[in-house]
Amino acid sequence: MKEIILAKFGEIVLKGLNKNTFEDALIRNVKRRTKRLGKIDYWKAQSTLYINPLEESIDIDELIDRVKKVFGIAKVARAVSVEKDWDKITEAATTYLEDELTCAKSFKVQAKRADKKFPMGSPEICMQLGGKILEKFPHLEVDVHNPDVVVNVEIRENAYIHAGAEDGAGGIPVGTSGKAMLLLSGGIDSPVAGYMMAKRGVAVSAIHFESPPYTSERARLKVEKLASLMAHYCGAINFHCVPFTEIQEVLRDNAPEELFTILMRRLMMEVAQRICEKEEISALVTGESLGQVASQTMAAMVCTDNACRMPVFRPLIGMDKAEIVAISRKINTFETSIEPYEDCCTVFTPKHPKTKPSLQSVIDAQLAFDYEPLIAKAVEDTKIYTINAF
Ligand code: ATP
Ligand code: MG
Repeated sequence: MKEIILAKFGEIVLKGLNKNTFEDALIRNVKRRTKRLGKIDYWKAQSTLYINPLEESIDIDELIDRVKKVFGIAKVARAVSVEKDWDKITEAATTYLEDELTCAKSFKVQAKRADKKFPMGSPEICMQLGGKILEKFPHLEVDVHNPDVVVNVEIRENAYIHAGAEDGAGGIPVGTSGKAMLLLSGGIDSPVAGYMMAKRGVAVSAIHFESPPYTSERARLKVEKLASLMAHYCGAINFHCVPFTEIQEVLRDNAPEELFTILMRRLMMEVAQRICEKEEISALVTGESLGQVASQTMAAMVCTDNACRMPVFRPLIGMDKAEIVAISRKINTFETSIEPYEDCCTVFTPKHPKTKPSLQSVIDAQLAFDYEPLIAKAVEDTKIYTINAF
């Protein structure tokens, strides 16, 4: 039987005049993420995107899995599509959903008649089809409140039958909320932060600071793997790898030890912003959560933000570690994040970092040395490449 995917739009249905822009972005993103699976037909009607695989070889489970990760889609149903002919509809419902109905104890029929020209109304469809199902599966009972199986019939330009929709990724389409640069480490938090911004429509690029030989190539490969896992949701990620060793060594040799981390973070922000300015990216994103570590106290963030000319989004700011871990498991980055490779942030870290640095002392410490040539060099030597999901 011919299967098709119905992807129902989420909150973009509430958009007013520019609704089409959002829908077009969503469809573009779905196409980008699925077209390599084979020949597929896509069209939209009534706040639903129809995804019709045209080749036998296309793995529908894989296709659904990809569609479910595209932001902007609230629900995804895998349906069978038949002509709007009553006999065909009943035949399709009882054969397509045979396994589900055989295993269930109870069911109900839910009908939606988008095509008002169809001769039967929704209540009549439910009653008639319910009767047919009971004839074929006499062990079943109708339960309108808590059925094991809901047989959905949607009458549109065709009739679509399915056993219910699964949740999609929610959010709004990537690319409709501007561009931001995620500071991506190898930890648990920053991939989750990137995911959360992408969910609100931001096109996420990533920047990673590495300090060879203190950090290894495997540590960088791990971060690239994280970016590739994020790309399942965010789309292809423009990845920037910054050589940070020299700045860290100079900081170690020149800055007051207790201010090392905060100065390092300010310099990371500076390098990131220069690259953003070149690429017309308008905000930074970090995985910081208030109070998690010494550099994430409010006083430390005041000092970090003082070095920033653009907004710094911290979507995890009010979240507990357990909540962050739950999302990281859901988006499949957790297992990679906990692989034990070093991060440049753990290189030369002081034993007693200041948790309440005074802004003036930090500014003075930064002015005591000319970091400009080092910053310029780090920006110049940054390697930029695209990381895809597959
Ligand atoms: P994460 O789990 O994301 O590593 P964390 O709890 O380990 O966060 P820190 O190491 O203090 O916290 O880093 C805070 C934030 O700074 C990170 O979430 C990330 O956005 C950024 N960051 C840290 N290290 C790097 C790095 N090597 N390259 C790019 N960004 C980094
Ligand atoms: Mg970290």
